[in-house]
Amino acid sequence: MKRLLRRRKSLIIAFIAATASFLLGVTLPINLRANQPLEPIQAQALAVSQSQEQKPISNINQFKQAIAHRVELSQQALAQLQGIRFQSTVLSQFQGTTIREAKLDSQHKAIALTFDDGPWPTATTQILDILKENNIKATFFWVGRYLQTYPEIGKQVAAAGHAIGNHTWNHEYLKYSEEGAAREIDRTSSLIEELTGVQTSMFRPPGGILNNGLAAYAQKKNYAVVMWSADSFDWRTITESLTDNVMRQAKSGGIVLMHDGGGNRSRTVKALPDIIARLRNEGYIFVTVPELLQMQEQELKNQETAQK
Ligand SMILES: [Zn+2]
Repeated sequence: MKRLLRRRKSLIIAFIAATASFLLGVTLPINLRANQPLEPIQAQALAVSQSQEQKPISNINQFKQAIAHRVELSQQALAQLQGIRFQSTVLSQFQGTTIREAKLDSQHKAIALTFDDGPWPTATTQILDILKENNIKATFFWVGRYLQTYPEIGKQVAAAGHAIGNHTWNHEYLKYSEEGAAREIDRTSSLIEELTGVQTSMFRPPGGILNNGLAAYAQKKNYAVVMWSADSFDWRTITESLTDNVMRQAKSGGIVLMHDGGGNRSRTVKALPDIIARLRNEGYIFVTVPELLQMQEQELKNQETAQK
């Protein structure tokens, strides 16, 4: 009887050891793939495994708990990785179309803040801080050559869970052949994916120009061409209230245009907390552009089921 118990015990230990090594094998590639955006979780996992190494594990239950915890961490890491990859994907019915706003009924006061021409030193991280304090996810349209210059800032934006769109490589107001447009757009999307893991299906043409070959190429490649319904005019040099500009044009389903890069954006940074507070006062919630489009789709579905 005693021998049988001992054998069973050694079987359990062997099983646990096998599970642990399997899990290590599973989590290792995840850790390797997720180099930048997963830092907090990796640090957490490391801290857990280090604290376990220091204390000898006194019984099997503790060991089981440690494994369960490890599984939980890798599941979280995987979910985060998938989240980052698909947070910039719009529903397929919007791909290849041009969007200025979403059609939402008045019950849902939702609005999307968008920031163009980054990543950019100082302003982008200041805006990230303001968004974080307010628990808001926004949408950033990046210029490829700025992302190449400031990759770490770009990684911070993606890791914070914001949606990312393509805003060409050079940000120029020219006429483009299909090859020229392909160079501007493909190169930018490749760099976004290479640095952040994000696959974007959103494109915003520089200056909002829709007839110079860029938007046509983007639509052909199934990007949603994302314009805006409210311009903060933060790019103009005249002194005016950016907050008033936004509030005057704000509406449910709206897309607000602001800038975090391409020049000195201290005015935008200064106005942003006030813009957020006043929109919130009017009952708005803040979502990314893909989320805004999902809300429109959901409302449509709800209306259809109500009619049946
Ligand atoms: Zn721009």
